[in-house]
Amino acid sequence: MTVQEKINLLREELNNHNYNYYVLDHALISDFDFDIKIKELEKLETKNPVFFDSNSPTQRVGGEITKNFETVTHLNRMYSLDNSYSKEDLLDWEKRVQKMLGTSEVKYSCELKFDGASINLTYENGQFIKAVTRGDGFQGDDVTNNVKTILSIPLSIKKDFVSNFEMRGEIILPLDGFNKMNEERFENGEEQYRNPRNTASGSLKLQDSAEVARRPLDCLLYQVVTTERKYKTHFESLENARKVGFKVPDTIALATSIDEVFDFVNYWDVKRHDLPYETDGVVIKVNHLQQQEELGYTAKAPRWAIAYKFKAEQVSTILNKITYQVGRTGAITPVANLEPVQLAGTTVKRASLHNADQIEKLDIRVGDTVFVEKGGEIIPKIIAVDFTKRPENLEPTKYATNCPECNSELVRTEGDAKHYCPNEFGCAPQITGRIQHFISRKAMDIEGLGGETVDLLRKEGLIENYADLYDLKVEQVIPLERMAEKSAQNMIDGIIKSKNIPFEKVLFALGIRFVGETVAKKLVKHFKSIEFLMTATFEELINVDEIGDRIAQSIIDFSSNLGNIQLINRLISHGLQLEVSAASLENQTNKLDGQVFVVSGVFHQISREELKKAIEDNGGKVSSSISKKTNFIIAGDNMGPSKLTKAQDLGVEIISEQDFINKIN
Ligand code: AMP
Ligand code: ZN
Repeated sequence: MTVQEKINLLREELNNHNYNYYVLDHALISDFDFDIKIKELEKLETKNPVFFDSNSPTQRVGGEITKNFETVTHLNRMYSLDNSYSKEDLLDWEKRVQKMLGTSEVKYSCELKFDGASINLTYENGQFIKAVTRGDGFQGDDVTNNVKTILSIPLSIKKDFVSNFEMRGEIILPLDGFNKMNEERFENGEEQYRNPRNTASGSLKLQDSAEVARRPLDCLLYQVVTTERKYKTHFESLENARKVGFKVPDTIALATSIDEVFDFVNYWDVKRHDLPYETDGVVIKVNHLQQQEELGYTAKAPRWAIAYKFKAEQVSTILNKITYQVGRTGAITPVANLEPVQLAGTTVKRASLHNADQIEKLDIRVGDTVFVEKGGEIIPKIIAVDFTKRPENLEPTKYATNCPECNSELVRTEGDAKHYCPNEFGCAPQITGRIQHFISRKAMDIEGLGGETVDLLRKEGLIENYADLYDLKVEQVIPLERMAEKSAQNMIDGIIKSKNIPFEKVLFALGIRFVGETVAKKLVKHFKSIEFLMTATFEELINVDEIGDRIAQSIIDFSSNLGNIQLINRLISHGLQLEVSAASLENQTNKLDGQVFVVSGVFHQISREELKKAIEDNGGKVSSSISKKTNFIIAGDNMGPSKLTKAQDLGVEIISEQDFINKIN
């Protein structure tokens, strides 16, 4: 077998595995074996750059940074949809359609209306070219790098299908994945995302595609746009799209009359609550493509399609009380305690009121009758107050001024939606929460110690902060409730073992407000030790990539607190990793300090990824687009001609792979 054949075979095999896993939801290979094959392909591709293919499965892991998303004009306009809210609206639409077509012989494709961000995927000769958002319908943003990380989207269509086409669909965030992301944010002490739709569309505009790759996005397809007249009906084109690898949900159905359309609507109005993603309605489309063409478009929407919006389930109930929860970072969340009421199959007793602004906006008062809604969203939402039912003399809500747990006066900094309890070291839920965060899986990952035990240790007065964990003795722990000798030993062993956890995780574990996993990594890379980080000035901090005022101020606050300084000193004396280890420092220098590089083309001696890593390890920055800030372009073979002209226009120095290697050695 030639190298090329081997590469092609691996690509096809990996594409098939992606398809099985992400489209059919049925893995035929373990993650481990998949990784081995990807690595093998990566190696072959690096050694044989002539066979580079931007659609190779190795090119989907993310890592491209997009600073500005390019505006692209759509080849075919992306229309909006007319809405309808009742069966009468649908009957009217049917009449109009039949009248315009001059026949009652019309079939309809019935589909769910997916609630996400619309996307247009362009394919030429069966190869994926680009992904563009809807934008204003005429022009959208090129989000190709980000969309490529969604593994259910096939990049190369080999089988029997049209060859030049656009696939339209919706980028969505399934509920499971959305909930997991929120759990993580909760652990990081960050404000939770409100709903999957906004989070999905926000994800498309992230600058770092590696971050997009980490998000559990999916793409559901609902239209093939092409001038090739291979299929006569919309339904047929979608069925075939599914066959060649696109994720076309099998909820789609063909209706031969408007009555069957109603059946579909009624069925999903109830069953939608069991779907793994959100839907806010149904889309009904005239099935025959010839008829679609005859019907054409209004100024905004196709005449051959209409959306039917489900009514969000809503009930009204009484607000009994507003309570306040204290998170581990001291963030206060007001909670509406409601008269229990049945809603979309569950009993609702509580709903989040988010923050003081929200309370003010709703003008919600204890004793009010309120409308509660569950529009497919997980957490019930208070939509509005029923002012017609407001009893006389209801007191306007005064937001809490003091912490419900420790009575400290709450503070609110400008630009922050939330109030905070500033009593970091004396407020019980903050103390316990901080230790629970410290030991959690993504932080110190202490085996044999869980959140409940932390609670117990605190109540027994054995620990007051995370440094105390490292002073614990087996004998102190054994007498605790439900603690056997063996589990006590396991716990102490786990604590000792955590002294080897690398600095970036320790930094995350400290629970500094706004310092989540990603920020911790960035800080570690830049400052290399807790000492440098804690003595950094505000200016030094905001000069670090992606560190803004808010994060910088939080670090300054943390570092200037005497209690924190003592804690950190104790952690250091216990031997925790509070600086980057010598081994990982070995390959790092400041030779390229502050210089911005753009990498373009195909390379021979080292792979693109290695090149980027070498730049960053030596203090440089990698950017994906050429601008005035670019210092060097490292040009490989086949560097794009547009990049070349731009570089020349801006006078950016172009260097070769070898020049770069000389620079760092
Ligand atoms: P609207 O944003 O209310 O104008 O509705 C139009 C949008 O609905 C389109 O841009 C798509 O993003 C979205 N949509 C969701 N599901 C479908 C579907 N099955 N067919 C067509 N459009 C859909
Ligand atoms: Zn407090």
